[in-house]
Order: sequence, then C-alpha cells, then structure tokens
Amino acid sequence: MSALDLDETHDPQRTSWVEVAPESDFPIQNLPFGIFSTERRDPRIGVAIGDSIIDLRALAEAGHLDPIADRAMFCADRLNALMAAGRPLWRALRGRLGELLRVGGERTLRDMPQALCGFEEARMHLPASIGDYIDFYSSIEHATNLGRLFRPTGDPLLPNWRWIPIGYHGRSATIVPSGTPIRRPCGQRKSPDLEAPVFAPSRRLDIELEIGFFAGPGTELGDRIPIERAREHIFGSVLVNDWSARDIQAWEYQPLGPFLGKSFATTISPWVVTIDALEPFRVAGPAQVPAPLRYLQRHDADNYAISLSIWLSSDAMRKRGLDASPIARTSFATMYWSQAQQLAHAASNGATIRPGDLFASGTISGDLPGSQGSLIELTENGVRPLRLPGGEERAFLEDGDEVTLVARCQREGFRSIGFGKVVGRVLPATNEGCEA
Ligand code: MN
Repeated sequence: MSALDLDETHDPQRTSWVEVAPESDFPIQNLPFGIFSTERRDPRIGVAIGDSIIDLRALAEAGHLDPIADRAMFCADRLNALMAAGRPLWRALRGRLGELLRVGGERTLRDMPQALCGFEEARMHLPASIGDYIDFYSSIEHATNLGRLFRPTGDPLLPNWRWIPIGYHGRSATIVPSGTPIRRPCGQRKSPDLEAPVFAPSRRLDIELEIGFFAGPGTELGDRIPIERAREHIFGSVLVNDWSARDIQAWEYQPLGPFLGKSFATTISPWVVTIDALEPFRVAGPAQVPAPLRYLQRHDADNYAISLSIWLSSDAMRKRGLDASPIARTSFATMYWSQAQQLAHAASNGATIRPGDLFASGTISGDLPGSQGSLIELTENGVRPLRLPGGEERAFLEDGDEVTLVARCQREGFRSIGFGKVVGRVLPATNEGCEA
C-alpha cells in the first residue's frame, strides 16, 4: 500500500485571504474547477473558494499562468483541454493557485479584484463537453437490495457481479447542471394485471445518489489503461443524480439494460473536485472475494472517505415554510468497485476514452436503515413510504418535489472539503399523447 501523495496544498493550517466560512465546502485545500458566466462574462473557467469564484481567464490573460501552459487552455469555455493536460500540469496549477490565494503568498491576485466574483453573480454551466457517459452499478449493498426486490427467490447478486464492474452506456446529451428543472417523463409501463402496456407519465420517479468522475487524458482506439495508472486518467469528481423512472425501467430493461427509464435526465454538481484535492481522503476499499481478475486487482488504497446525504422538500413543505428534510445518509468509502477499477475495466477492450467522458458510480447505498441512495430501496419498492415533515408520505417523487444531494470529505488531521450540492425539482409531465 502506498502512502498518501500529499504536499503543502493539503496543509490543514493553510488559510486564504479570501473569506471562507469555517463550514465551507470550498476552503483553499479544495479549489474545484467549474464553468461559470455572469452578466459581464461569457462562460469561462472558474475556481471556487469560499463563496467566491476566481476567473481563470482573467488570470491567464494577465500572464499569471504563463509558466504553466499556453493561455488558450485557461481561456476556454469548458474544461476538456485542461482535463486532457494530465496530472503534472493539474498539480502545477493547483500549486500556483494556492500560492496566489494563501495568506502570506504572492499578492498578484489581491491586486486584481476583477478576477474575483461572488457565487450570487454567477450562473453555472456543465463543466465539460461530455462525449460518453457510463453509469456503473458498483455498490454491493445497492445491487443486493435491488436483486432482492426484483428476484425475491434467487441469489440477489447475479453470478457476474463480483467479477465485473457492471455498467451501461447512458445518454450524455441529457446531462444537465444542478438547478435544471426535471420534467416527469412519459413512457411505456405495464402492470401485471393488464395485458398490454400503456404510454403514460411515470408514476415511480426516483433518484439515484452517485458520484461520477471525469476522465482526464484519453486513450487511442485499441489502448488499455492499466489499473496501476488509472488514477492518472481521472481529473476529478462531481455529485450525480441519476433520475430513474422505475416503472419504465422495469418494463424495458430486459435483455439490454436501462434505456428510456434513465436517459431523460441526469443532473451533476457544477464544481469538479480534483483528484489531488481528494487525495487526503483516499482509503482502502472493502476486501473483494473472490479476488478480481488481474487487470482489475487493486494495487493500493483507491476508495474515498466521502459522506453523502439526500434532502427532499415538497411543494407543501415549502408553502408551509418547512426546510428540506434529510431522507438518507451514506458513505462512498465502502463501494465495492473503485473508480480506478471502473476505468481500467471500461478501457479493457480497447475502447477509446476521451477527456471529459463521465463515469458515474452507480447508486451509493449502505447496509444500515436510511443509508440507501434511492427511494426504491428506502421505501422497499414503495411498500413503506417515507413520512415527510408536515405529514405527507412519499413512496416515489411527486410533482414539485425538490431533491438536493450533498457530499463532504472528512478525515482526522485534514481540512474537510465538500462537493457543493446538486439540486433538481420535478415538473409535471406533458400529457400529450398519453393514455393514462
Ligand atoms: Mn445509476
């Protein structure tokens, strides 16, 4: 097992001259990247610190990033070129930004207030142009829970599960940034008592709490990514809400897997927490039995200690002035298949990986009550609805429900960092052409 790869940018004593609240997700130890715009600025790269954003284009145009790379990389309206540049450059940039932002560091940025703006001024966009999107199924608790629901009499895990990080290709075109309203999808669903399916609004709209990673440097067709080098191909992570219409999914999923029950929308958080910011929180994953095949064998600690929670607020709650209520709390640390294993697997047949491809973990669930990352698990397929503050019950999402996912990394001896949040509110279906 290798030691954590730490440097002065992880020093918990380091503070910034930019104001950062003690509980902020974005202290100087984090420095996540995103794409923002304001009334005066077209979309560009920003770095979050506290409730402020550093305008990377302004810094680059003033020549302050010239030692690191050509200005074009920092003046882009998406992160793909930066993602392609690789870990040595990301580290040099992280080091440079830390130096410009830390108390006692270089004064340059202090003398250019035009390079800073507040969160309240900014509109956030997708961080990257996402070519391909894969969603895995890497929590053994989630796979077991769903297996029990769908195949109550058999082994809940299918025979391949402990050998292959199971995944499917999702739809990158419908990945949207946090805050985008989610229209309830219509689709085919079939109840056992009916002979034919109906085309109608989904009645079992669900969420999936996930963490996704963006690919860094890509591969050529035919190349693989050895698992020992997989982390060099990972730029950073975001929160993912993989909205799921369970009734559409249940009818369509055999034999080729999820399709329209998933492809209508996927929401991601706007700030990409880099692999270097996550390094202090790297922990060993669970023991894997049987041992995976050699190309999937972990060579060091490659999970992350990230705690996550899901919050729900309904129309009725908001009208009564009630705050969003937590409905689940869980951890990423015990995920069975790691990001490195997922990426090594995705490239193992020689399929091209491109910078900005997004790989989501699959629903993150634990084995304690209230630690499941989807409503279908939390309510046991709708049988035990959740009770919300104000007295409403929820089996699946109703129109007007707003779901917020949050995530935070904590470890003794380090400054905690977070992912911000990912939010989405459900809009009513467009009923045109529907039969029910
Ligand atoms: Mn999913």
